[in-house]
Amino acid sequence: MQTSFTLAQLADPEVASSEKILRSCVHCGFCTATCPTYVLLGDELDSPRGRIYLIKDMLEGGGPASEEVTLHIDRCLSCLACMTTCPSGVDYMHLVDHARSHIEKTYRRPIHDRLSRSLLAAILPYPARFRAAIVAAWFGRPFAPLVRRIPGLARFAAMLDLAPAKLPPRGASDRPGVFPAKGERKGRVALLRGCAQSVLDPGINDAAIRLLTRAGIEVVLAEGEACCGALVHHMGRTEESHAAARRNIDAWTRKIEGEGLNAILVTTSGCGTTIKDYGFMLRHDADYAGKAARVSALAKDVSEYVETIDLGEPVAIARPTVAYHAACSLQHGQQVKTAPKTLLASAGFEVREPVDAHLCCGSAGTYNMLQPEISRRLRARKVANIEATGAAIVAAGNIGCLTQIAAGTHMPAVHTVELLDWAYGGPRPEELA
Ligand code: SF4
Ligand code: SF4
Repeated sequence: MQTSFTLAQLADPEVASSEKILRSCVHCGFCTATCPTYVLLGDELDSPRGRIYLIKDMLEGGGPASEEVTLHIDRCLSCLACMTTCPSGVDYMHLVDHARSHIEKTYRRPIHDRLSRSLLAAILPYPARFRAAIVAAWFGRPFAPLVRRIPGLARFAAMLDLAPAKLPPRGASDRPGVFPAKGERKGRVALLRGCAQSVLDPGINDAAIRLLTRAGIEVVLAEGEACCGALVHHMGRTEESHAAARRNIDAWTRKIEGEGLNAILVTTSGCGTTIKDYGFMLRHDADYAGKAARVSALAKDVSEYVETIDLGEPVAIARPTVAYHAACSLQHGQQVKTAPKTLLASAGFEVREPVDAHLCCGSAGTYNMLQPEISRRLRARKVANIEATGAAIVAAGNIGCLTQIAAGTHMPAVHTVELLDWAYGGPRPEELA
């Protein structure tokens, strides 16, 4: 694709980086077939190629983002299916990140839009606030149908709908600490505690800790670590996401330079994709570029790491058949495609794959609250495909997908690592009780 940036524009390293990405697109359109919003809406401007053109015009023009560009970029799920499909290797992820940041800085959104986005950014990354917000949502839930009918408030109704009916008790992984290996220590890893997952399902990290320590891996939950920054990053709030990245890099660097770490593990693949990107996000920060690159190099999805260690022999239990849902952040963002399925099969589970496994379930961080209509349609499609497998339960490696899918089906939805923990001697996951 030809571009026409001025030399002055290209002096900005973010513009220079996006210009390279734009030039790599040959506008062949292969990506349109696997883009969930194009598949649903059939509008070229809601396809990757259409968005790339919109971003090019916006960045070349250099002025404030328009309402039209904002509409179509907001509808993008950042699912990155287009990157998996693209034969030219177009780095759409960093291009759309730049576009979102430009929109956030230059476009004045309508009041209800600003309010809902600010609310999500102020609550979701902070477990105590998120817990309090869920309790408040229980009281608001009976009014959700009424709220939905008020113009501009559909998002608030979606937030009420998605609030879980009950909150699990805090888990062992709720605070910083060290979980020693059982028997001889064969490795030492940090595990991200994270934000929303630690409130919605602390049992996931508890299961990861049991599985790892039984296999001889010491697990560290670092002091000072918190939300990875992904939620605000996808809203274009770059300064907030970079601040979150620096805080976590400091926390893990103390551990790396102390007793050392073999890996930094993540059980929420949406967060994993962002932590693996810290090196890129902070590449122009002289104080953090090196440390960020080191953290990104150590970051792994829990399934990637578990595949490299000896779990021993699975125990004898009656195993349900599993429909494996591949989270976009895992299959497209991190290109981790086989490890979870291989691990489940080795643990004795019969694994079935839904059709259209490459298409997003509509969760996508805060997308299911900010774009409730498209999200609902994507969930209905995904749930129908999962149920058509005839499996008894559904497994995934991302809390966002698990929450989204569970809201549309009666099938129990569990994290892959909870099934592995169960199969190798841990307790049966609560969801299967
Ligand atoms: S498949 Fe790649 S090169 Fe082709 S239009 Fe899409 S992004 Fe551009
Ligand atoms: S990230 Fe997903 S929704 Fe966005 S353009 Fe690419 S395929 Fe479409």
